[in-house]
Amino acid sequence: MKILVTGGAGFIGGHIAERFVVDGHDVVALDNLDPFYDVDIKRHTIERCREHASSGDGRYELVEGDVRDADLVSELVADADYVYHQAAQAGVRQSVENPRKYDEVNVDGTLNLLDAARETGIERFVMASSSSVYGKPRYLPYDEEHPTTPVSPYGASKLAAERYVCAYSEVYDLSAVALRYFTVYGPRMRPNMAISNFVSRCLDGRSPVVYGDGSQTRDFTFVEDVVEANVALLDTDAADGEAINVGSTDNIEIETLAEEIRDQLAPDLDLVYEDRHDADAEHTHASTERAAELLGYEPEYTIREGVSAFIDWYRENREWYEPLVRNS
Ligand code: NAD
Repeated sequence: MKILVTGGAGFIGGHIAERFVVDGHDVVALDNLDPFYDVDIKRHTIERCREHASSGDGRYELVEGDVRDADLVSELVADADYVYHQAAQAGVRQSVENPRKYDEVNVDGTLNLLDAARETGIERFVMASSSSVYGKPRYLPYDEEHPTTPVSPYGASKLAAERYVCAYSEVYDLSAVALRYFTVYGPRMRPNMAISNFVSRCLDGRSPVVYGDGSQTRDFTFVEDVVEANVALLDTDAADGEAINVGSTDNIEIETLAEEIRDQLAPDLDLVYEDRHDADAEHTHASTERAAELLGYEPEYTIREGVSAFIDWYRENREWYEPLVRNS
C-alpha cells in the first residue's frame, strides 16, 4: 500500500511510519520539521525509517513540506492509498499564546488533506485527534458520547478538525476516522511532556517538576498501542465517520507517577512543584469500549510496563536523546 503519513517525522507519526515501512508498505512522510522541539529528535526518526527501507522492508521517502500548502498536499494525496494525518501544532499551553497558528495548521491543514482526498479518492483517511476535545469532565471515564467543550485553543482546533473529518465522511462518502489519543509517551517522545521530564531529570540528578499539586490524573498511553489502533484501520471501514478514544484505561495521578519514577531512578531527590496552567486538563480517563468493538483495540501496556520500557529505551539512547531533551 502507498501510505501518506503527515507529521511522519514527529513522535507518533514517526512510529506509525516506521511500522508501515517494516510491514512492507511504501511510506511518504510529509513533515515541515517544525522547531517546536529539537529537530534532531526528528532526524533520528527519519534515519530509522530510512534504515528499515534500505534493509529491504517497504519504501520510505521524506517530503519536507507543509500541510498548509494545498498544491503540495493535492499532489501527495493523489499518489496515496491511505492518509494517516498526524501533523499538527501540538501543545496545549503554547496554543494559548498563539491560537491562530493552531487554527491554520490543525484546521486548514486538515481541510487541505480532506479536500484532496475527496477529489482523488483514497481507501481511508485517519486523523490524530485528542482527549483535549472533551474539556472539563462531567463524568469519567470519557466515552465518545461525553460533551465536547475544549478549554484550550489546541483542543478547539482538534475538535474542529475532527468534525470536518466526520462531516466529509458523511457528505462525500469518504472513508474517514478520527482517533482521540490520550497523552501518548514512548521512545523519541516530545521532550516537553511529563514522562520525559520525570525520567530525564531524575537520571540527570535534577528534581522532577510537577505542575500544580500533582492530583491531576491521566491515561498515559504507550505509543505502540497507538500504532496498533492505526494499523487496525488499514483493514476496516467499521469506524467510518466516527471519532474514537485511544487510551490506556490505566489511570494514574501525576504525582504518584513522578514519585514512582523518582523512587526507582533517584530516591534522594525531592519533587518540585510549579504552577499548573489553566489550559491543562485536570483529569483525563478513556473508555476504550468503542475502539475495542470497532477496531479490536486492546491496550497492551499498563502505565508501569510502558514507563519501564521507556526507561530501558532512554538508557540505551541517552547519549543522543538527553542533550536534545535538555535543549527543547
Ligand atoms: P509531534 O510534534 O512530535 O509531531 C507532529 C509533527 O507534525 C512534527 O514532526 C512537526 O514537525 C509536524 N508538523 C507540524 N506542523 C506541520 C505543518 N504545518 N506541516 C507539516 N508538518 C507539520 O507531536 P506528536 O506528539 O507526535 O503528535 C502527533 C499527533 O497526535 C498530533 O496531531 C497531535 O495533535 C496528536 N496528539 C498527540 C498526543 C500526545 O500525547 N503526544 C495526544 C493527543 C493527540
